[in-house]
Amino acid sequence: MATLVALAAVFVPGGDAFGYRFYWRTVDDSPLPVAADAARWDPAVWGPGRTLQFVVADSPGWTEPWEDARGEEQEPPFASPAGVIPFARKALAYWSAPASTDIHWAVTGVGGELHAERDHVNAIRMHPFGHGASYAHIWDRNGVIVECDVSLNPRHTQDLEGRALEVLIHEFGHCLGLAHSAMFPTWDTWGWRHAFRPALWDADPVMSYGYLPEPALTPDDRIGASLLRPAPGWLDRVGSIAGQVTVDGRPARYVPVFATLISGEEVVASANTFTNGEGFFAIEGLSPGGYLLAAGAMGDISGNSSLVDRGATLGSTDQYLLEPVRVAAGQVTRVPPISLRAGREASPFRRE
Ligand SMILES: [Zn+2]
Repeated sequence: MATLVALAAVFVPGGDAFGYRFYWRTVDDSPLPVAADAARWDPAVWGPGRTLQFVVADSPGWTEPWEDARGEEQEPPFASPAGVIPFARKALAYWSAPASTDIHWAVTGVGGELHAERDHVNAIRMHPFGHGASYAHIWDRNGVIVECDVSLNPRHTQDLEGRALEVLIHEFGHCLGLAHSAMFPTWDTWGWRHAFRPALWDADPVMSYGYLPEPALTPDDRIGASLLRPAPGWLDRVGSIAGQVTVDGRPARYVPVFATLISGEEVVASANTFTNGEGFFAIEGLSPGGYLLAAGAMGDISGNSSLVDRGATLGSTDQYLLEPVRVAAGQVTRVPPISLRAGREASPFRRE
């Protein structure tokens, strides 16, 4: 049985892609990974309150048979390119629904046969290889996003009524400017993650390579999107937690930090971010309340192997701070250093 996963790549030509929740212009110069440094849409192209338009490219793949990973021919994805429109609209609506976001975008119909080059048309395309990824291609001009094209793999069209919609939601999340989130720190193999949903975490973010029981945005996804395109007034109603993570006294590089909002005995929301190269982190966009913090090396590096290439700290212990950290609107709550220890015997896991 094929498992549909939000396997996807993103290309930022000429840009400085960085696997944080956002894309960056000057990642190595950024003293603290905050939303203010994230690459955003050119306001002249997609300004506040305005609607970004996509068209479906009239590329042949929509209506042609395709070859899956086993070399077997599969039925054409759709009878016509317009067949994808309801699914694309549904996927876009996940991002525009939260009241905390200023995200208005639409699919206007089927356009011409568009190509990969920057052409100032945001396109949804089909590419005919059944064994590759779906991906978003973000075009930037001096670090400012001016266009996004989504290329869908035909194997991700087979269950768009169900789980495969996650792929479209995920790719449109890249178009917003979101990079890959971490999965929550469940140190099981892929199959076991399905079986044991831990009580402490939400489902994995749609912007991670993790597991969602159904297509949805998690609080982590909503917060990331809202920080990039906030609804008027929202930023005034949220706060941040900032600090540093160390491992044996040295900065813990690119390790995920998780903030979980607790109300009574209920887990209300979880969000995560990565430390930067100096171990600093800031989790922004948090509703006021008491948060449990946790940090530790990635257990599953799928979707974030670029951070490993940059020297991410691996194989450390986890640290859970069980004294809630108070977050207040409009404020940054600074926490003492979170100390990890090296030497955990675990191999980072990566799904191909
Ligand atoms: Zn992706």
